[in-house]
Amino acid sequence: MDDTERLQEMIAGAKRIGAFTGAGISTESGIPDFRSPGGIWTKYQPIYFDDFVSSEEMRHEAWRRKFATDETMVKAEPNAGHRALAKLVEQGRMTAIITQNIDGLHQRSGVPDSKIIELHGNTTYATCLDCGQRYELAPIRKAFLGKGELPVCTKCDGIVKTATISFGQAMPEIQMARAQDETMGCDLFIVLGSSLVVYPAAGFPKIAKRKGAKLVILNREATDQDASADLVIHGEIGPTMSRVVGVN
Ligand code: NAD
Ligand code: ZN
Repeated sequence: MDDTERLQEMIAGAKRIGAFTGAGISTESGIPDFRSPGGIWTKYQPIYFDDFVSSEEMRHEAWRRKFATDETMVKAEPNAGHRALAKLVEQGRMTAIITQNIDGLHQRSGVPDSKIIELHGNTTYATCLDCGQRYELAPIRKAFLGKGELPVCTKCDGIVKTATISFGQAMPEIQMARAQDETMGCDLFIVLGSSLVVYPAAGFPKIAKRKGAKLVILNREATDQDASADLVIHGEIGPTMSRVVGVN
């Protein structure tokens, strides 16, 4: 039996499957992961949340970076890896996709919001830090690039920021709690494309394992948690999941 068949068998035998995805599931969509050399994410020092809030100059820098690098994100389309998970969700086999990604590609592959748990937020729109009002990026981009204007909430004058969780910003409580519940409730937990080094997110596979779920890690390179997994596949996500689930 090869790895594809093993994973197929585990999926067929599971009652409730949870997925945990990282930047690696989106590289085949053209979005570089954290580690790839020269990747957009490695060029800049991160802007910490407190600095964003306290300094207008930092907010300028954050939006300048956002729009300088946004084209990759805007152009990206879901790939076979996203489609495979979408199919498992549609079949009712997979009950949650817990993701570290901020690219919105799980939603774009047709998975309903209710099945996606974004641990690090979403960079495809913005929100007011005070009242939570949502803002689309296109008008912000126009005002920023045209007139150098920083977005301000029209409802409460609050600071508007991409809906991502920055370094130094608290993890989103509701999503963390949902992720915990889903992780504890599943009997098969599949990690796809995460180096499993960013905590607390990387703690979820450990929670799944402790609760007795089977753990699968599908990643191009080895991770620290490979030793505790029931099945480790060092391969490409799109081609592997296409074979396993039967999508193009
Ligand atoms: P990471 O970059 O630390 O790890 C990605 C892993 O995926 C690597 O181990 C790599 O070997 C593997 N990988 C890459 N392409 C693959 C492929 N096609 N098939 C199989 N494996 C592949 O990513 P992480 O663990 O998600 O942590 C990075 C942090 O940066 C996260 O917190 C995330 O929020 C953020 N980030 C998000 C995006 C995105 O939204 N697409 C992109 C970059 C970084
Ligand atoms: Zn507001």
